Amino acid sequence: MADYDVIIAGGGLAGTIAAQSISHYSNQGLKILVIDRNPSNLPGMKSVAGWICGDAVSKETVDFMSNRIKVNWSEPEIEHKVKGVMAFSPDRETSIPFDGEGYMLNRQVLPHRQNERTLAMGVDFDFEINITGLMYDENQVVGVQGIDYKTKTPYKKTAKVVIDATGMTSMLRNQISNTTKMERKIDRKDIESTGRHIMYFDQGEEDLTEFDPDYCIIHLDQDIAPGGYGWVFPKGKNKVNIGLGVEKTLLEKRNQRLGKNDNVSMLINQYLKRNNAIKNPKLSEDPQDKNNATGNFQVSVRRQNDCMVANGFVIVGDSAWMPKPLDAGGIGPALVAGTIVGKCVVDAIQSGDVTEKGLWKYNKEFINEYGYKTAGLEIFRRLIQTLTNEQISYGMKHFLGNLDVESISKGEHPDFSSVTKLGMLIRGALNKKLADGLRFTTQQNRLLTEHYYNYPESPDGFNGWSKKLHHILDESNAKLSQYQN
Ligand SMILES: Cc1cc2nc3c(=O)[nH]c(=O)nc-3n(C[C@H](O)[C@H](O)[C@H](O)COP(=O)(O)OP(=O)(O)OC[C@H]3O[C@@H](n4cnc5c(N)ncnc54)[C@H](O)[C@@H]3O)c2cc1C
Repeated sequence: MADYDVIIAGGGLAGTIAAQSISHYSNQGLKILVIDRNPSNLPGMKSVAGWICGDAVSKETVDFMSNRIKVNWSEPEIEHKVKGVMAFSPDRETSIPFDGEGYMLNRQVLPHRQNERTLAMGVDFDFEINITGLMYDENQVVGVQGIDYKTKTPYKKTAKVVIDATGMTSMLRNQISNTTKMERKIDRKDIESTGRHIMYFDQGEEDLTEFDPDYCIIHLDQDIAPGGYGWVFPKGKNKVNIGLGVEKTLLEKRNQRLGKNDNVSMLINQYLKRNNAIKNPKLSEDPQDKNNATGNFQVSVRRQNDCMVANGFVIVGDSAWMPKPLDAGGIGPALVAGTIVGKCVVDAIQSGDVTEKGLWKYNKEFINEYGYKTAGLEIFRRLIQTLTNEQISYGMKHFLGNLDVESISKGEHPDFSSVTKLGMLIRGALNKKLADGLRFTTQQNRLLTEHYYNYPESPDGFNGWSKKLHHILDESNAKLSQYQN
């Protein structure tokens, strides 16, 4: 007899939502345990640096979760409301809105509230447990093991299903031994090194391309944030979450190109300094930001893991590489996946099949709701990373029609219908190359989206599906490597 029906490894955002979802869909009928290495007074902290995040989430994904599992977020975990995200071209002449209405969260306050709600839904917690591995019975995952920091003794707990929500650096996913379908390791080039400050400031020049209390601002610029972007997200009229993300190999190239030796922290400080709307910035000393005003962390920017289930085991959130390839937004997909995984795990337990086959529909339901678009966006991101500032500015000005902006605002790959029109006048060889690249990623995105909608109904079809996926991805990457300037 297992200690619990479900153990959730990692009590961050994805973990607590999964726990709430299981409690909701089972009418509090299952025994659920959330285990985290943090002490109970610092819940959901990602690393010693804090709850490092841009803190932005779309209202749409919060509503997705709230409508289904009946958990509502309000103040103080919602710190500020915004009308959307605005992405600016390097020359600042073009901006595109996306994501619609959204919230700026307080990531340090949110986990406290999440834990209160989760406890009230009948879920148990164990804190200060460092989980180091899974327990198996033959080919079935049956629990977790680790070290209890409080007593310095080994820790073991069993369950019918283990949900891994331990984030980006998951030790459970990268050691999984009862499946060949789930990928264990991520390519370095699919990781962004990021960092940010939470600050108060005096108002400088009024410049809505630099700070806008109503919009989260994104700056695309290969000199400021090579292979990523800079962000200025408002947390009030004079409070900001400001940071940037880079791809490390592209940062090295940029440093060589400009004869510099900057690292992420130096880039953030330069980015802050050049912002003319932000004067006299100071790290927040608010009690709710006390352990979280500055820090660096990593985030993945690829499609979700090709298979997210194994016998007795599923992955969710950053552990499954869910942040969106284009903007590294991981809260939205964690809300969607946490909600869906809870329902699928309850169904699997109630139907008496917690094998890979019984848990399989989590793969399918997440893809149908959200994951269908991520492989296409991964290819698109790779193309953008090859571009110069001039190409990005030209492309945003000349190649984005209204329908494309609409697709981007839904988080989908645009169709670039104007680029595909024959006879369009394009100035410059580099821009012709860009147009060619956009036509190519549009075509590959169509193939990939269709392929994801054909994700197999059961594990039997996976190997054939995966072979075809990798064929499309390899072909895409081979072609994109020709675009590298
Ligand atoms: C700089 C930065 C900016 C970002 N900006 C945004 C943004 O603006 N909007 C957005 O949507 N997303 C953003 N993201 C991504 C977002 O922060 C993540 O997608 C989100 O936090 C993922 O939640 P999670 O619960 O999956 O993982 P995490 O938040 O990493 O939580 C993991 C939990 O597991 C616990 N844990 C880990 N290992 C163990 C272990 N071995 N034993 C026990 N417990 C363990 C941790 O203590 C933690 O509580 C950003 C990320 C970064 C780094």
